[in-house]
Amino acid sequence: MSDTLTKAVTRNGLIRIYAVNSKTIVQAAQDFHKTLPLATAALGRLLTGAVLMGSMMKEEDSSLTLQLHGDGPLGRVLAVANSKGQVKGYVENPLADLPLNNVGKIDVGSGIGQGYLSVVKDLKLKEPYIGQVPIQTGEIGDDIAFYYAQSEQVPSLVALGVLVDRDYTVKQAGGFIVQIMPDCDEFNLRKFEKAAENIKSVTGMLEKGLSNEELIREVMKDFEVDILEETEVDYVCDCSDERMRRAIISLGKKEIQDIITEQGEAEILCQFCNKAYLYDKEELQKMFEKARK
Ligand SMILES: [Zn+2]
Repeated sequence: MSDTLTKAVTRNGLIRIYAVNSKTIVQAAQDFHKTLPLATAALGRLLTGAVLMGSMMKEEDSSLTLQLHGDGPLGRVLAVANSKGQVKGYVENPLADLPLNNVGKIDVGSGIGQGYLSVVKDLKLKEPYIGQVPIQTGEIGDDIAFYYAQSEQVPSLVALGVLVDRDYTVKQAGGFIVQIMPDCDEFNLRKFEKAAENIKSVTGMLEKGLSNEELIREVMKDFEVDILEETEVDYVCDCSDERMRRAIISLGKKEIQDIITEQGEAEILCQFCNKAYLYDKEELQKMFEKARK
């Protein structure tokens, strides 16, 4: 099963809005990483933000890595998305836990803490683009919006939400991003800013079971909106035996020799899907031969 991402633009072409329902993606992350609710919400929001940002990349085969380096109990949270609608991620401490915040919600902001958000865009043929901004609230949507304003000079509104059920499964997940295009005039900007004050919480809209299109029309109700396209998005891990071998070979001869003498074998877990790759002495020896001094 796949999730759906919907792209839309105001009829005047001045404001774009993308919405995604990411319940299947966030549930896949929860299954792979066995996250408790705090980590499910944080990683889920970051995956949702990443898949929205990935869908904005025009270059074919490009990808982007979003990383939150905070000092909160969750540790590092990372998500990688590409322009084909595939996303994957992990959280350093999937079992971190905190009491609910003062409005009775999962306290993602305190879970992340203070630090910085980094964005690396791998554009294949061009030089990678690297941006970094201080974490604002740690609620992730705000942080991505701040990144866009600060690093790309694109005024944005980003709302991301994950609802976790009592049995720790994902009840709802999704979000949207609104961006003001560079040729937007003052009148439409003010009009949107005024409308934005009344936008309901994304979790509320998710709870009501709004479709992407309904959500877009609700958020942009003061504007005429055209739906451009709907695409499938998924949690996909592309790890492989070949990749793992390359990673070991890149350690260099000395490191591989140490593994051979100290452990005799190597078991590597994929950080994104927890798949185990096991290499015995003989296999490690082959990699040793290929490695650099
Ligand atoms: Zn994997």
